[in-house]
Amino acid sequence: MVRKVEKTLKEWAETLTPNQFQIARKKGTERAFTGEYNNHKGDGLYACVCCGETLFDSAHKYDSGSGWPSFFQPASAEAVEEESDRTLGMHRTEVLCDTCGAHLGHVFPDGPEPTGRRYCINSASLSFEDRPMSEEPDNLTHNDGHDHALNGNPAQQMTTEQDT
Ligand SMILES: [Zn+2]
Repeated sequence: MVRKVEKTLKEWAETLTPNQFQIARKKGTERAFTGEYNNHKGDGLYACVCCGETLFDSAHKYDSGSGWPSFFQPASAEAVEEESDRTLGMHRTEVLCDTCGAHLGHVFPDGPEPTGRRYCINSASLSFEDRPMSEEPDNLTHNDGHDHALNGNPAQQMTTEQDT
């Protein structure tokens, strides 16, 4: 597997906190209900804590009661990679950052509509960023030129306000 971002474990250890490193690079799992984004309700995007690539959108976050941030889909299908995981005597599907291979969590087939999937993700693998203010629909300046507010993300275009 060729990654767009590749670093040695030593290099990752220098840029991450010990907790982030243990979870994102060593496939650890934070204890349930302890992660900073478990009950996080902000409107914005969750990026990979390792490489900064956008992975999840708060529009897809829901309260699963599991104790970990849960999403019913990633920000885009290309953002994450899924791999069979048979560790700990279980058969689960691991979710990784497609760009740098960071361990994010697991995906389970017991999520809500419309996907029926539950992406159970460690807060320590994520970095939240507020959605840019330029996307506010009540902005008085109707068109101020080339404002790439959508970042070219097709998943977001379906959820934007009417564009008249
Ligand atoms: Zn990454």
